[in-house]
Amino acid sequence: MKKTIKIYLFILLIIGINNCYCQYQGYTTDSDSLLVLKNGSIISLTSQEGSVKTGTIVIKADKIEEIFFTENTKEYANAKVIDLKGKYILPGLIDAHVHLATVPKKNRIENQKEVEAVLLKMINSGITTVRDMAGNAIILSDYARASRLDQIPAPSIFYASQFAGPKYFNMTRRHSNNPEDKSDKPWAQTITDSTNIALAVARAKGSGATGIKIYSDLSAHLVKNIVEEANNQGLQAWSHSAVFPASPMQIANAKVNTMSHAWDIMYGLNEDGEITRESLSNKIDFNRLDRILLLMKKNKVILDPTNYIAENNNMNGVEIPKRAHELGVKVAVGTDWPYLYEPEIPFFKELKLLVDKCGFTNAEALYSATKIGAESIGLADRGTIEKGKKADIIIVNKNPLDHIENLKDIHTTIKSGIIYKKEKT
Ligand SMILES: [Zn+2]
Repeated sequence: MKKTIKIYLFILLIIGINNCYCQYQGYTTDSDSLLVLKNGSIISLTSQEGSVKTGTIVIKADKIEEIFFTENTKEYANAKVIDLKGKYILPGLIDAHVHLATVPKKNRIENQKEVEAVLLKMINSGITTVRDMAGNAIILSDYARASRLDQIPAPSIFYASQFAGPKYFNMTRRHSNNPEDKSDKPWAQTITDSTNIALAVARAKGSGATGIKIYSDLSAHLVKNIVEEANNQGLQAWSHSAVFPASPMQIANAKVNTMSHAWDIMYGLNEDGEITRESLSNKIDFNRLDRILLLMKKNKVILDPTNYIAENNNMNGVEIPKRAHELGVKVAVGTDWPYLYEPEIPFFKELKLLVDKCGFTNAEALYSATKIGAESIGLADRGTIEKGKKADIIIVNKNPLDHIENLKDIHTTIKSGIIYKKEKT
């Protein structure tokens, strides 16, 4: 008897810990369960126009089963129904540039707590998918799995394997005091002219990465080979805008999927016809900029500008995504900025810079934060509210098409059909 009580108390304790840590009312869907969101104002973001239509969304397991615009929900009598009158429904947000596993703390538990706090903050802010742009793939795959299995409140995680030349890795490895950084790993590989690129890409793929991060100290020729091989093996090619010695024009020419850090596009060539770290011009040459941007548009390269970094470092960032947008280059929203050290969410700052300084309408910024975000990861299954898409949805209290700041007023986040609703504190 005593033993039974002890076990019972132990179970209660576990449940108690879970409840207070998670702060969410979980509603895990099984394959037959139905969830009906009725009477909400749906902003589907299938286009940049951003129209609003009142309707009902039916979610079956992790997918949007049906959307209709009448009040009839009778055929879903057994479903869990949530009335969202007066609320706005959008696709889940996508941060196209994060680093979840690059600076581990010495203490494992503290490290876990910190990463999980970041992931919780993301879910809390309506971010349902992230693209991690280089970090330890063992850690990233573990969090990606924990997210997939709903073991922790977290966005879906996609990540890259970092490719760079020896100059880069020799420099960073000299300064790193993390012993596992001292040699090549499947998620951090030194690439030279003698590297078997097919094998390097296969190693990256084996680590669970869905993209190659083309980072630094690589020639135009190598970049082209890496992109071709990544495409062959079904991986994405995510590049920095300037890779040294490969120039922004050569990166765009190699048909990478995305280019990160807008200010890098202004790296020019020095007298020897090479780009160097010193060859960043302070003044924007718009003729040259337009040539690169038009090539990006032609090759369907998405720009991941990371504006907030530029603004914080007094760099000439925002003019470039502004011009990119004018010319019709697709722009994603990536932060590359820590989530825990400032009260405000960096993703919202990034989004507001698109509206305030880059000429985006609220609808266009939201389209970048969702549809283009999905495209930047090579994902066609999310980013809009449409029949058959993944049930990644945010519900907000006020219309973000009126004021982009309204996006911060989150009512509920739904990821893969699972409701994450913050408890009132
Ligand atoms: Zn980064």
